[in-house]
Amino acid sequence: MGNYFQTVVDLDATHADAHTLAAGGLDWLVKEGMVRAELSDCVLGAPSGHPPGPSWAKAVEQKDWEPGGGLRIETDRTVFNCGQGEARFAVCPHCAGRAVFFTDRLEEIEGVWEPFGAAINDWSDTGSAAVVCPLCRRSGDLTAWTWSDHFFAFGYLGFEFWDWPDFDPEFLEGLARALGGHRTVLMAGKL
Ligand SMILES: [Zn+2]
Repeated sequence: MGNYFQTVVDLDATHADAHTLAAGGLDWLVKEGMVRAELSDCVLGAPSGHPPGPSWAKAVEQKDWEPGGGLRIETDRTVFNCGQGEARFAVCPHCAGRAVFFTDRLEEIEGVWEPFGAAINDWSDTGSAAVVCPLCRRSGDLTAWTWSDHFFAFGYLGFEFWDWPDFDPEFLEGLARALGGHRTVLMAGKL
C-alpha cells in the first residue's frame, strides 16, 4: 500500500513569480479552511507541510474519507510526474502524431524515448528544451508536448496533496482562480 498524491501544477508560473503565487494560493486555501497555515510533519518526502484544515471536505468529492496527509508546495523548477509507471507515448505539438515508447507487449521501442529523456534532463538543468518529432521532423518545445495519462508536467509551482480523496472540480477551479486564472493541470499517482 502506497501513498496517494494529487498535485495541482500551475503551468503559467515562472521562476520569478512562483513564490508570490504560492503565497496567494496558500492564502486562499487557508481562508477557505481547507488547510492550516501552520506547518507540521504530514507529507512524504519533505520535513513539513500544511495539514488539512477544518473545512477540508469542501475540496473533495468523498466527504467521509478524512485526508491522511497534508499539503506540500513546490516552488522550484520541477519535472512533475505520476510516480509509478511510465509514459507510453508523447503527442507532437505540430502534427499531433504519437511518439510511442512501448509496443503493445510493453517492450521498449528502441531509440524513441532517448531524445525525450535527454530533453527532460536539459529542461531540468536549464528550464528550456526541445524535441524533434520522429514523425514530422519538426522541433517542438518540450513543454508543448502532451503525454499519455498526462504523465508529465513541467513547471515551477505545484500544490502537492498527500492522501486526500479525489478533488472536486469546483475546488480545482477555485484554486486556479486564486492563481490568477492560470492554466493548471491535476496530476495524480502513487508512491
Ligand atoms: Zn510531429
